[in-house]
Amino acid sequence: MNYADARRVATELEKLGYKSTARAEDADVIVLETCTVRQQSEDKAYGKLQNLRPLKEKHPDKTIAVMGCVVGVRGNEHLAKQFPFVDVFMEPSTDGKPLVSLLRQDDDLTLDLTETTQRHALMDGEVILPANERGKLISAPVSIVYGCSHACTFCIIPQKRGIERSRPVGEIAAEVRSLVAQGVKEVVLLGQIVDRYGYDVPDGPDLADLLRVINDIDGLQRIRFLTSHPNYMTDKILHAVADLPKVMPQIEVPIQAGNDEVLVNMKRGYTQAEYRDLVERIHRIVPDAAVHCDIIVGFPGETAAQFQDTYDVLADLKLDKVHLARYSPRPGTVSARRMEDDVPDAEKRRRFHLIEDLQKEISQERNNRWLGETVEVLVEDKHKGSWRGRSPQNKLVFFDDPRNLKGELVQVKIEHAGPWSLSGTPADAQPEPPAAIETIPLTVL
Ligand code: SF4
Repeated sequence: MNYADARRVATELEKLGYKSTARAEDADVIVLETCTVRQQSEDKAYGKLQNLRPLKEKHPDKTIAVMGCVVGVRGNEHLAKQFPFVDVFMEPSTDGKPLVSLLRQDDDLTLDLTETTQRHALMDGEVILPANERGKLISAPVSIVYGCSHACTFCIIPQKRGIERSRPVGEIAAEVRSLVAQGVKEVVLLGQIVDRYGYDVPDGPDLADLLRVINDIDGLQRIRFLTSHPNYMTDKILHAVADLPKVMPQIEVPIQAGNDEVLVNMKRGYTQAEYRDLVERIHRIVPDAAVHCDIIVGFPGETAAQFQDTYDVLADLKLDKVHLARYSPRPGTVSARRMEDDVPDAEKRRRFHLIEDLQKEISQERNNRWLGETVEVLVEDKHKGSWRGRSPQNKLVFFDDPRNLKGELVQVKIEHAGPWSLSGTPADAQPEPPAAIETIPLTVL
């Protein structure tokens, strides 16, 4: 989501005639995108910001902007005091207008007027990829709903990103069309609760309606969406996934914990049994779907027995992938204010590793079913000399081929399965030419 936000701001800068640079030192304008999902991310953001201080002192004409969750939607006086060298602070999901206004006031701004005028003709939603990504980016994130109106007790997002706001269908479609025109083959539609798309608009379209519109965009190959909330994953959305050829069979739907009391303390709004029913419903309507989830271990008060419920539910459901996190209190959240972070760090790590080991076995088992199958891979790039891409279920697939296949859909026969990836050979691979036959002179005796 941060990447998608940053790209919108980059588009505004491109409209003004700016070009991206590889190094901050070479830039006239530096925009720092920040994240606060964990303490570590927040510390990193402050560290990077401090590193910019000497640069600004040496070159006061450079413009420094900070955006994202460190700024948040609730004012930034404290940041302005701490980092007075920053020229502009912008909320998450900003359209970049505060920065654009500041730059427009700058008398020294020189613009490529022909190009700029052309770019001002962009429709609402259309984006310009930075030059280093144009024609090269294969999969692009597209935010479709900003903010979140839930109040999970551990989560800082609603305070930082504000209430839920769905973007209009036409604006999203314009963004996707502009991305496709610049070489993008796959879009990942994003929302904190992506399956609540349209809920904030009376009689608005829902996610299934939006998927149908995006599915019709010429040139687009694939659509994914994340992250869903179990309570809003309707049959209508699942049938759209099953019916629409470009929508990939991958459902990202966090459970967070497998114990009902912990789920109440997290204020998640469903029970373990309801989540099990959902997974059964997903597999019934979209039989080949890969289901991914998030888990937090060591939530305040989580006993060993409650953790065991989480372990057991994962052992039973055998999901394709689990994103694991150890609980860490985020200042300002309900759990940080009202609950004691009473699971010792060593125990959090032990629980983390138990689930990690379990999931490694499950992912291996899930991946083994692809052995001998031919899967369609959207090729993204080269990694250590091999082509790397993703299957419809979002499995990483590696293969070797001398052709330039970046951005192509390639049928790959799977010959090896590991827990985190698959590898194989393109179905249309040319057989290796036979090795040159050595001729041995015969001596007739
Ligand atoms: S639904 Fe997701 S983003 Fe919203 S409060 Fe809960 S965890 Fe945070």
